[in-house]
Amino acid sequence: MTDFTKQLLPEVNRFLAQGPIASFVGGRPVGGGDDSVFATVDPGAGRPLAEVYEMGADRVDEAVETAQRAFETSGWSELSPADRQAALERLAATVEQNRHILAQLEAIDGGKILWQAAGDVQNFIDSIRFFAGEATRVDATSRLAPEGFEAYQARLPWGPCGFIFPWNFPILLVGWGIAPALAAGNTVVIKPAEDTPLSTTYLVQLAQAAGIPDGVINVVNGRGETTGAALSSHPGLRRMSFTGSPEVGRKVAEACGRNLVPVKLELGGKGAAVVFDDVDVAATAADLAAAVTFHAGQVCCDATRWLVHRSIYDRFVDEVVGRMQGVRIGHPLDDATQMGPVVNEKQRRRVLDYLMRGQEEGAQAVLEGGPADVPGCEGFYVKPALLAGSLDNVAAREEIFGPVAYLAPFDDEDDAVAMVNATDYGLANSVWTADRGRADRVARRMVAGNSWINCHNVFPFGVPYSGIHKSGLGGGVNSIETLHDYWRKLSVVRPIQ
Ligand code: NAD
Repeated sequence: MTDFTKQLLPEVNRFLAQGPIASFVGGRPVGGGDDSVFATVDPGAGRPLAEVYEMGADRVDEAVETAQRAFETSGWSELSPADRQAALERLAATVEQNRHILAQLEAIDGGKILWQAAGDVQNFIDSIRFFAGEATRVDATSRLAPEGFEAYQARLPWGPCGFIFPWNFPILLVGWGIAPALAAGNTVVIKPAEDTPLSTTYLVQLAQAAGIPDGVINVVNGRGETTGAALSSHPGLRRMSFTGSPEVGRKVAEACGRNLVPVKLELGGKGAAVVFDDVDVAATAADLAAAVTFHAGQVCCDATRWLVHRSIYDRFVDEVVGRMQGVRIGHPLDDATQMGPVVNEKQRRRVLDYLMRGQEEGAQAVLEGGPADVPGCEGFYVKPALLAGSLDNVAAREEIFGPVAYLAPFDDEDDAVAMVNATDYGLANSVWTADRGRADRVARRMVAGNSWINCHNVFPFGVPYSGIHKSGLGGGVNSIETLHDYWRKLSVVRPIQ
């Protein structure tokens, strides 16, 4: 049996061996004394990796106050956009130099295949560079010309902004979230998911090494009901951004509403892929199988309802079953692995439970799935699965967050669009066809934040990515609009005498 942890870099081993891992507030480690600890686990091996101090409400208070002080006194909010770009470029370069460390931390903490983790680190770097650059191209004031007045509107940073993230793309989502906030001149307090605190905590130390002023980026670790609840209900925040499940999103929105803190919600999904009969069936099956097994299907915008034209349905099913059966399941640090574990035992049970309930409600198991055995690894592995049948089935309606897709045939365009839209979610769908006119028509009729044509899970910078209905509220990462959200607008008016 291979001990994959032998591949870990000395910096990673040192970071893990330091004893309970502290949070980072105002440029210094915070934790100890009465703070409780929780364990973060390697999902590939099923073993604890490290203990982490949990930040209670007092620590969260301290972090928000520190972020407010840094906003007022560190000079960050008053830098010119070009100077802030230079500082953020130093952060990007420092992360680049340390990318192998961050990628390993991400892989072992979240069960993410190493090359995918490396891609997420690169995406963080790209986010920082994108928004730092965009901020230099926005005028800080807009001249207005009302009759009898001289007036303008100024764009000014808000102050401390809170962020709560899930465990499926820890460092990538931190980049999507904080890059626009920082580029606009705000300070941030981040609460990573308790399953994946490591990369973000390491990152904030790199930010200090890169010369980002103390208190501009703060991290508070802990569980949702303690640290998350304390952060989302903090009246000292000027903006809040939450990425995670609709259930917790509601609680965060309620807490922010009570304080009138503007909140963005980026939530879950139950996306569809509509496959017409003019596609290359083998290639489309390969693309969708790759999408639903990417990070073991723990991707908010995954296509998990596959609606296939009846005339190619059987051929598509044959192709896709072959692909999914052939996926090599293994430890995230094993180069041969194509699909790693799910994040924890709770998530594994959730996936298996949906497969069982789906079949109890009458779905056919086209590919059975179930627990997967990876010799020598006690981690949380499941096999890819495919169910088929009525879209009223629980497995077709609810977000499973595992390598599971639900198949159903359709007869025509109207039929397909109605099936796509029969959901409370509204994150991302895709349409697969060689007919450009039909692709555009269907793309516009599918009700969600994103419609993709002949691809799934694509996120070019500059294209807003957001959910509607149960999938989100007021969000839209990766976009210029998001950057603008991190400036408050001040109207300045003087009568002309
Ligand atoms: P989750 O909602 O359980 O947890 C998300 C975060 O909220 C964690 O940091 C958690 O500690 C915190 N939290 C939990 N309870 C809280 C409370 N009472 N108050 C404040 N914070 C609390 O979600 P998860 O299981 O970590 O992630 C999976 C979900 O995230 C899925 O629904 C997925 O679709 C969604 N997601 C959405 C996007 C997007 O961009 N739309 C991206 C990634 C994940």
